Formats: sequence, C-alpha cells, structure tokens
Amino acid sequence: MEKLNFESILLPGIEEKRPVVIAGPCCVETEEQLLTTARALASNGIRMLRAGVWKPRTKPGGFEGVGSVGLPWLKHVKEETGMYTVIEVATRDHVFEAVKAGIDILWIGARTTANPFAVQEIADALKGIDVPVLIKNPVNPDLELWIGAIQRIYGAGIHRIGVIHRGFSSYDKKIYRNLPLWHIPIELRRHYPDLPIFCDPSHIGGRRELLAPLSQQAMDLNFNGLFIESHYRPDEAWSDSAQQITPEVLDYMLNMLVIRDANQTTENLAELRRQIDGVDDNLLELLAKRMRISREIGVYKKEHNMPILQAPRYNEILENRTKAGASMDLSTDFVEKILKEIHEESIRQQVIVMNRK
Ligand code: PEP
Ligand code: MN
Repeated sequence: MEKLNFESILLPGIEEKRPVVIAGPCCVETEEQLLTTARALASNGIRMLRAGVWKPRTKPGGFEGVGSVGLPWLKHVKEETGMYTVIEVATRDHVFEAVKAGIDILWIGARTTANPFAVQEIADALKGIDVPVLIKNPVNPDLELWIGAIQRIYGAGIHRIGVIHRGFSSYDKKIYRNLPLWHIPIELRRHYPDLPIFCDPSHIGGRRELLAPLSQQAMDLNFNGLFIESHYRPDEAWSDSAQQITPEVLDYMLNMLVIRDANQTTENLAELRRQIDGVDDNLLELLAKRMRISREIGVYKKEHNMPILQAPRYNEILENRTKAGASMDLSTDFVEKILKEIHEESIRQQVIVMNRK
C-alpha cells in the first residue's frame, strides 16, 4: 500500500480540537437565509459554514440548488462573518466556479464518490489548485471505492484531505436514513491513521432526534469532527428539513457532548468493536450457509419421502455441540438455546421446501 502524506485541513485560526465543527444549511436558498443562519452560527463560535449551491437529487423535480447565483452570497457572508465557506462540487465546472468565487473548502458528495469517472474529472480539475477537499463515503458500503476517491484526489496533488462519514444507503429505512456501519470508517482509519474523519450525523440520521446520539458515538470513536446541517428555520428548509436544527439547538447539542481523551482505552475499544463487527459478519454468513444446506436437505427429504423432523439426529447434534462448546468455555445452557433457535429455523425452512409445488 502506498503511503499518503496528508496535510492538515485546518485553515488559519481553526483550533485543533475535537470536534472540529462544520455547520450550515443543506442548501443555499436565499441570501437572507444564508446570512441569518451564518450570523447565528458564527455568534456561537462556528468558524466553517457548509451550504450546497449544486445539489444532486435522487429524482428530478426536487430542489437542485440555486446554482452559481449563490456563490456571491457565500462570499458576502464570508466577508461579514469571517467564516470559511465549504461547498459541494460534482463536476469540473463546479470546481472552477467555486475556486474562482473564493470558496475555502470543497466537498465531494456521496453520489459522486461512487462514480470514479466523476471523481477523476474533479481530480483533473483540481490539478494545480491548492484547496482542502473533504470526501464523503460513497452511497454504497464499499471501502475500496472510498479509498479510490481519496487516492484520485491525492494524485491530483491535493494533500489537504479529510473524509466525511455520512452513512450508507439501504433498501430498508427503519431507523436511519443511511446506515452508519461504523466499522467501515473505522477500517478507513486503520488504513490511513492520519486522515481526519468527520461524521455527518444529519445524513446518517435523517431526523433531528438522532443527531445527538450519533455525534456522541462519533466522538467516542475518536472521530475528528462533525459536519452538520443547521438552518435558522429548519421546518421551512427547501431540502432535508427533518434533519436540520437551528444554530441554537446545535450549540446546545455540542455543549452536551462528552469528549473523552483520545487515550489508549478509546482506541482499544474501537479496535475491539471492529473485531466484534467482523466476527458478527462471519456468524451471519455461516448461518446463511447453514440454512442453504438445510434447504438442500429439505429437497432430499422431499424427493425420498422422508419426514422433516428426525429426533435422533437432533439429539445427536445437541449432545455433540454442547460438549464441544463446553470445551471452548461456552455454557451448555447458551449453546443449547442457540442450537434450538437454529434448529427451529432449519425446520421452518424445510417445511417451506416440502410444501413447495
Ligand atoms: C449534503 O451534504 O447535503 C448532501 C447532499 O449529502 P450526501 O452527499 O451525503 O447525500
Ligand atoms: Mn442535505
């Protein structure tokens, strides 16, 4: 693996402390909305303002951002509040326009990171330009794709790089808008220990109530910063309104965060949890494999007109496994309970196979 020598993304005057906070509205809507939000954030000590002018939307018809007309508003806000400005770029032209407008930091959105052609186009546009770039994870849980984007931007001569963990798309949106899958950014940290990681709890959670616990978890995992959506009137936001909070609520939330020392213990804990995640992945794969085999047995039993439940076989399994478990320090009770659940599910699967026409 090639060693990348990242340089600090912290611009002059930004303190190196956890969390480094970048906050602002999902989108630039009007000059007034931007200015009012930025003033409130700045008065609470936020020094970096995020806001999108070009917004990739999953489907057409949504608000796609005000476009280049928003760039002078950002410049104005920067002059008035002294905040650094941070916007999303997705094409070569976005890069040129943003840099020309004096934007301080660029970010690459999740949909863009997933597309190597788009990332390469941005990288090519960045050649010879010295601006920090934050790279969001791709929408799909693919660490290699994320690393590939980092390498492409680095290859363009940009060494001031940070990443933003914004969660991963899933078909089921039960709790989170985007699944956190914390082991992926943790694995990235192992890969590039010097690369600053921001957590974007807004796009992971998709709802206000989740911002505080997600931010706390990011801090407990020793992330460097937070990238959060904040709007002076969240309910009236033109996009992502359910996940935006006022600058006042943001300030309250940040003050409630418990920031533990980045000591050995936290690092060890993260590492141990990463191992647990890996073991759980293996357990699931093994269970899926076991069920596949059970279904095959079901087919065999059906073809040979055999009953599904064969008590002697089940007793043999229970006895062998609990003995083996005991020799590995697993309590008999625990092993029995798990085997019982697995066996029941196997039977259920075989019943489905049997009854199939
Ligand atoms: C955003 O930050 O507003 C955004 C569009 O995020 P993502 O690329 O993570 O979906
Ligand atoms: Mn958004």
